[in-house]
Amino acid sequence: MAVMITSECILCDACALECPVAAILDENSEKNPKDAMYYVKPESCVECVGHSDTPRCAEACPTEGAIVWDMPYTVAFEEYFISGNEEGKYGIRVHNKKGMMLPSVKEQPYISTVSQADRESHANLGNW
Ligand code: SF4
Ligand code: SF4
Repeated sequence: MAVMITSECILCDACALECPVAAILDENSEKNPKDAMYYVKPESCVECVGHSDTPRCAEACPTEGAIVWDMPYTVAFEEYFISGNEEGKYGIRVHNKKGMMLPSVKEQPYISTVSQADRESHANLGNW
């Protein structure tokens, strides 16, 4: 991951239009495991590394607390994402040949200057 969208989301669509890697799904997407809120695919989000200095989705979002930090999508957090997937928090893509696209299959870039405390507490990106 990455970043995560919370129940504060008001379904305005501003974030999805800004994402450079199409990692954000709307509430009607079949691949979205969440009800009534947008969803960030952790296996796709690159935290805008290589695209922008700060996450574009958070810059576009009008709602305090709707987009928050989550763990880096790296092997170190493999179990975290497996557990989250089993709980229905994530809906990690299953590739025909590669299987579930976990960090051990493909890690994603992340912003190294974000503290682990902010990630663990799912701090609001707007305060970063
Ligand atoms: S941080 Fe960037 S890559 Fe990740 S969901 Fe937001 S806009 Fe997309
Ligand atoms: S910009 Fe914010 S409020 Fe709008 S859909 Fe995205 S997360 Fe939800």
